[in-house]
Amino acid sequence: MLEVRGLTVRYGDHVAVADLDLQADEGEGVCVLGPSGCGKSTLLRAIAGLVLPDAGHVTLDDRDLGGLRPDQRRVGLMFQDHALFPHRSVAANVGFGPRMQGLTRDEIDQRVEDALSLVDLAGTGERTVTSLSGGEQQRVALARAIAAQPKLLMLDEPLGSLDRALRDRLLTELPRLLRELGTTVLYVTHDQDEALALADRVAVMRSGRIEQVGTPDALWRSPSTVFVARFLGLEHIYDAHIEDGIATTPLGALPVAERTAGGKATLVLLLDALRIVDPELPRRPDEIELSGEVVGHRFAGDHLRVRVRTSTDVEVTVPIWRRDAPRLGDGVTLAVDPDAIRILPAEPAATPQAPVSPTPTRQ
Ligand code: ADP
Repeated sequence: MLEVRGLTVRYGDHVAVADLDLQADEGEGVCVLGPSGCGKSTLLRAIAGLVLPDAGHVTLDDRDLGGLRPDQRRVGLMFQDHALFPHRSVAANVGFGPRMQGLTRDEIDQRVEDALSLVDLAGTGERTVTSLSGGEQQRVALARAIAAQPKLLMLDEPLGSLDRALRDRLLTELPRLLRELGTTVLYVTHDQDEALALADRVAVMRSGRIEQVGTPDALWRSPSTVFVARFLGLEHIYDAHIEDGIATTPLGALPVAERTAGGKATLVLLLDALRIVDPELPRRPDEIELSGEVVGHRFAGDHLRVRVRTSTDVEVTVPIWRRDAPRLGDGVTLAVDPDAIRILPAEPAATPQAPVSPTPTRQ
């Protein structure tokens, strides 16, 4: 339905989007996930017709959008900073798109009413935007994008400035709401939780290119590069040397699939690879045991993250749910699930990565 082919956008010498390909099916939610500055907003602006690409094509329902003005594209873009008309009423803001489309007064009113009730703001039409909270303004911006009934709805960091409770609520409600509308949606965000919760497919973007595309589950199970693994929040990533089905890593010797090619590689432990176990209890025979000492704890809302220094002097983090967590200084046994080990092409895993900073909002 949406097809982006070979899209390139330059700002002077800087290539913000580099020969990028991306597709979305009818009704599908695709999320572009990447760090601040990787070109996400530029991609959306190019699809919307707000910046002109240097090369490439965008087609929507087999119609080439090149040469069409933004208002002719049937593409809606909700900006990070809402871009609402601050002193006008909520209804005037939400009715902007339908008004531009030349609908009648009654049709505009109906669209406004429907869109406001979808975002749970029914009855606020007469209020001015400035009298609403930040979260409510964000929902007005969403209602405005929806009311225009675009074929493709694009959302730039849609939940960026919301407080945690509202964000969590919308993370659950937004996919349902958008599915009801049946609109194809392209989100961009730097937040992996948001991407994984909202999208049918996630495209991980790095320096103007898409590095990997897949369902959230496929990305979690098989990140294809160290960048993707790190960006999803995986932290147990090690240089490895593979020989005869054994990976020698700073963590110790770990088994890998027999057919894995020998030589230098990067080993990634998936999120659920490590568990603290009771050494007295029976376990799967193929699990590998590591021993270590608890060196820290961090509460993470609904679970506890326990830092363990292994006997090989590597610190790992293990999430646990139990209240009876081991105490600082306790000796523990860790089990590594061999099914949660992935081998990627060698990359300097030990090299510090640029910190993943949230995209600054322009509010
Ligand atoms: P993201 O949305 O992923 O944060 P952007 O698309 O906003 O990334 O920006 C991509 C890169 O292009 C950044 O390095 C940014 O500084 C640069 N950039 C964005 N807009 C402009 C512009 N109007 N002029 C020059 N450089 C820009």
